[in-house]
Amino acid sequence: MARLVCDLGKLEANARALVSLAGERGIEVYGVTKAVHGEPLAAGAMVKGGVAGLADSRLPNLKRLRDAGYGAEARVPLMLLRLPDPNEAEAVVRLADISLNAEVDTVRALGRAAEAAGRVHLVILMVDVGDLREGVWPDKVVEVAALMDNTPGVRLHGIGTNLTCYGGVIPTWENLGLLAALRRQVEERLGRPLAVVSGGNSSAINLLRVGGVPAGINQLRLGESILLGRETVARQPIPETHQDVFTLYAPIIEIDEKPSVPVGTTAEDAFGHEPVFVDRGWRKRVLVALGRQDTGDGVITPVLPGARVLGASSDHTIVDVTEVEPAARDGMRVGAELAFHVNYGALLALITSPYVEKVWDRR
Ligand SMILES: *Cc1c(COP(=O)(O)O)cnc(C)c1O
Repeated sequence: MARLVCDLGKLEANARALVSLAGERGIEVYGVTKAVHGEPLAAGAMVKGGVAGLADSRLPNLKRLRDAGYGAEARVPLMLLRLPDPNEAEAVVRLADISLNAEVDTVRALGRAAEAAGRVHLVILMVDVGDLREGVWPDKVVEVAALMDNTPGVRLHGIGTNLTCYGGVIPTWENLGLLAALRRQVEERLGRPLAVVSGGNSSAINLLRVGGVPAGINQLRLGESILLGRETVARQPIPETHQDVFTLYAPIIEIDEKPSVPVGTTAEDAFGHEPVFVDRGWRKRVLVALGRQDTGDGVITPVLPGARVLGASSDHTIVDVTEVEPAARDGMRVGAELAFHVNYGALLALITSPYVEKVWDRR
């Protein structure tokens, strides 16, 4: 069975490095656990690394975190990232201390549920500064903020934005400056300061490193940068972080030498694409017991220098090892494992695949 191993020590070190980088600019970090299925051991490593709270897009993941003892009472507030479904208001206020919101009616449902439960739910109003996923348009922010803040059972905790997710818009001095300016307008309208301006995700790391995040932004919600040690604009490694927190090990089930171009008349592959092949002669190949059912449309990259993934079907991945140093190649055996680095898409899929064993290594 394939295994995905997480080095919790490296995860903690990544969290610490990013908390320190953000902290120098007066910015707190929420650790985002959605790509690790809200795994409490991963969350624990982030908390040890100094994150101010934990955030996830799914309620079942927040439940795992709450059942593990996290939450505002334990000084590790839990935040729901995806806009709540108003039908789940009761669960949202029970499982999340804070939620990101854009709909006044949903916030009213959260308020009723919070009142019924005898608590106050914290709301961050999301502003769409151009990426075109969630959030109200900037010209409506002050009015919507006032409506949300007047809702019994909730308190407007702050405003926030999300970038580089749908539209691919990168954070800049200008678009985050707009958010900072809106903070002042909302505070003027409410007659009190907002606790939080949540300026985005791992795509803000480059801007953060050059001091380009405007004053007034005091929170980032970081997932990929902590988990994989990369910013998400150019996917470059972040200095002083580990890129190998996760390693995937897949069993080798065939080792052979075959041509690089299929023999016979070809049609579509298993996924409806017409594959293109370049004739590179006969190749030494390894077949591993893992496929697109496990990795989705993510990318896995062999750790071994010279090895290259040729392609994958649902249950098989084919690796070209022709360019691998002969000593390393000769050591390969059917039944042994081949190691891979994973990208974010692969991590997300592997974590939720029931066919992949997850190992949380506390070494
Ligand atoms: C997923 C998500 C994040 C974290 O994004 P990364 O790129 O993994 O840092 C932050 N905020 C929201 C709203 C999200 O959905």
